[in-house]
Amino acid sequence: MIETKLIDGKARADRLLADVAAAAAKLKARAGAVPGLCAVLVGDDPASQVYVRNKGRAAVAAGITSFQETLPATVGEAELLALIAKLNADDRVDGILVQLPLPAHIDPQRVIGALDPAKDVDGFHPHNVGLLWSGGWRKALLPCTPYGCLLLLRDALPTLGGAEAVVLGRSNIVGKPMAALLLAENCTVTLAHSRSRDVAATLRRADVVVAAVGRAQFVRGDWIKPGAVVIDVGINRIAAEGGKSKLVGDVAFAQAQGIAAAITPVPGGVGPMTIACLLRNTLIAACRRRGEAEPTI
Ligand code: NAP
Repeated sequence: MIETKLIDGKARADRLLADVAAAAAKLKARAGAVPGLCAVLVGDDPASQVYVRNKGRAAVAAGITSFQETLPATVGEAELLALIAKLNADDRVDGILVQLPLPAHIDPQRVIGALDPAKDVDGFHPHNVGLLWSGGWRKALLPCTPYGCLLLLRDALPTLGGAEAVVLGRSNIVGKPMAALLLAENCTVTLAHSRSRDVAATLRRADVVVAAVGRAQFVRGDWIKPGAVVIDVGINRIAAEGGKSKLVGDVAFAQAQGIAAAITPVPGGVGPMTIACLLRNTLIAACRRRGEAEPTI
């Protein structure tokens, strides 16, 4: 029986945040510059408000100035685009984060496309997506959640080269960029989705599993190859005892014990890495915009 290790995303994220804070302090000492991150929040979705608040707090703790622009849900697309243009031109702002989802009457692709790619700290602009897929990923700003998953995988596996990796889910935010990053690490990558024929059989081949489907405990224990490393991106709220609710991932965590070599918990796995990678990107954007050497973190 395999002893399944827990991949502690919180501890890894704390290390990355400490690296970001140290690099931000060096940038300040060297160039007198403090990186700035601006979150753009449209509407009053409570979950988005919490995310933006948490990101702001983490930024300040890492030595990054946090700005916020809040617009009503009724705002027109032209007004939002005008705000993006203003932030693109604002020298205090190194990173712009547009909190998704946007209201239905606004085209997210048009808004993301209007960002200065050098300030696109979510890594969603076509310029950064193109760099990631065309071998220029070291020059790109990389999407935060997949890059966080990659950092966890690099710690968990001695080498990723040649590994069979299966990414479950093909969203622009997680699945597709995750596949590109694993390809850049020389994995053999399969990207599975809702039209894939036999997901269980595909997963059973995988040395590395990244699950990003948004379905509670979707990946069963017997779909996992013994000894695989499993990264669970999913965040799903389900009913718990006593009329309460709890968060679970896309993988049946208890079933994976004794089969997987290592697995991320939910919460405490990928989630903390996402915010830490956002701040890493902001720091890197600040260094690049000023022609300063960027740290390899
Ligand atoms: P998404 O945009 O809803 O994409 C879900 C993907 O899963 C789609 O590609 C979909 O396939 C696929 N899928 C759905 N049902 C499937 C099935 N039965 N078999 C195989 N594939 C199936 O979700 P997302 O934005 O990538 O997020 C995924 C999960 O990660 C969510 O729980 C989200 O909350 C979580 N998340 C966590 C973080 C974090 O920081 N930890 C960050 C982002 C997202 P089709 O394309 O064919 O529809």
